[in-house]
Amino acid sequence: MAVLPIRISGDPVLHERASEVTIFDDALAALVADMFDTMEAAPGVGLAAPQVGIGLRLFVFNWVDDDHVLWRGTAINPELWITPTPIGEADEENESEGCLSIPGERYPLRRAERAILRATDLEGQVFEIIAEGWLARIFQHEYDHLDGILYADRLDPIHAKAAAKVLRKQGWGVPEQAWTPGVDHLED
Ligand code: ZN
Repeated sequence: MAVLPIRISGDPVLHERASEVTIFDDALAALVADMFDTMEAAPGVGLAAPQVGIGLRLFVFNWVDDDHVLWRGTAINPELWITPTPIGEADEENESEGCLSIPGERYPLRRAERAILRATDLEGQVFEIIAEGWLARIFQHEYDHLDGILYADRLDPIHAKAAAKVLRKQGWGVPEQAWTPGVDHLED
């Protein structure tokens, strides 16, 4: 069990495009195992490799939907197709999203209702998931991480301003800030 430090917004690895995974070896399997440990300790429903300082195109996810179905897996070199994002204002109650790289904060954001994820698992097998609702949101959020995009980059101006203010106040938004689940206890 290894819980890794989670990089906080401002660290360059979170704001760059990650590289394709080309080597499926024990080191990759160990990274994925540590990412699951870290995601569970946080706790979170998804974690992308750049969030633990590794600029590779992979993320893990763990989500139980309203029908009690567990969606848990590793998406390596994913592709994502999404339906058009609805226009209009996001709903604070039902569309607020958070990110372990901006810990303790949540802001409303519109996302596509449906998404198709196609990716490779640790065994090198290609799989596809047709997702809707919150699972589709998780995939969009995690996929963005691989392109160096944080959800804060997509917020409307008012919420973007609020997020920027929190980063400044916490001394974040600069390189090499991180927190470790179970070690660092962040105030909300
Ligand atoms: Zn995130």
